[in-house]
Amino acid sequence: MAKKKKVENKTDQPDVIEGQPCPMCSQNKLVLAEKETEIPYFGKVYVFSMTCHNCKYHKADLECAEHHEPAKYTLEVSSEEDLKIRIVKSAHAFVKIPHVLTIEPGPASNGFVTNVEGIINRAKFAIESARESEVDKTAKKKAKKLIKKLNNVLWGRDKLKIIIEDKTGNSAIISDKVVKNKLRV
Ligand SMILES: [Zn+2]
Repeated sequence: MAKKKKVENKTDQPDVIEGQPCPMCSQNKLVLAEKETEIPYFGKVYVFSMTCHNCKYHKADLECAEHHEPAKYTLEVSSEEDLKIRIVKSAHAFVKIPHVLTIEPGPASNGFVTNVEGIINRAKFAIESARESEVDKTAKKKAKKLIKKLNNVLWGRDKLKIIIEDKTGNSAIISDKVVKNKLRV
C-alpha cells in the first residue's frame, strides 16, 4: 500500500475513501481508511485498512514513519499491569507465545496497534476457533488447558512470554522491561 503524505491531521479520525473496487469480489464496495497514530517512545505509525461491505474482505496493516531496524522483542508478562503494554504489530510479524501458539505472517495476517491484553485475547480467539472444529479429544483438552492459562494471565495469576519478530522493523513491544535483540535477516 502506498504511503500518503499528509499535511496535518491532529485528530484521531481516519481518512476514509469509500466505493473502491474490492480485490476479492470486484464490487465497488471497498472502504479504505488511513490513520496516523503517535506511539510514545516509538514514533509515528500509519495504520491502513481495507474493508469490503459486500464480501466482508478485510485487510489491515501499518507502517512506521521512521525506519526501525529488524528486531526481536521478548516480554515476560507477569502482572496485570503488563497487560497495558503497547504492541505495534505489522502484518509481517511473527508473534510467538511459547508453549501456547505462534501467529505467522501471511496473506491473511493483519497489522494493528494493540496491547498485551489484545494479543492474548486474539490468541484465545484463535485457539477457541480451532477447538470448535477439532474432533480429537486430546487436542480439545489441550486447547481447553491453553485457554485456562491465558485466562489466568489475564487475571494476573499466571505468567507467559510474548516474542515478536519482524524483519521489516515495523513492529515493537514498548516497555522498559522488554528485551530487544537484533534480528538477522
Ligand atoms: Zn468484496
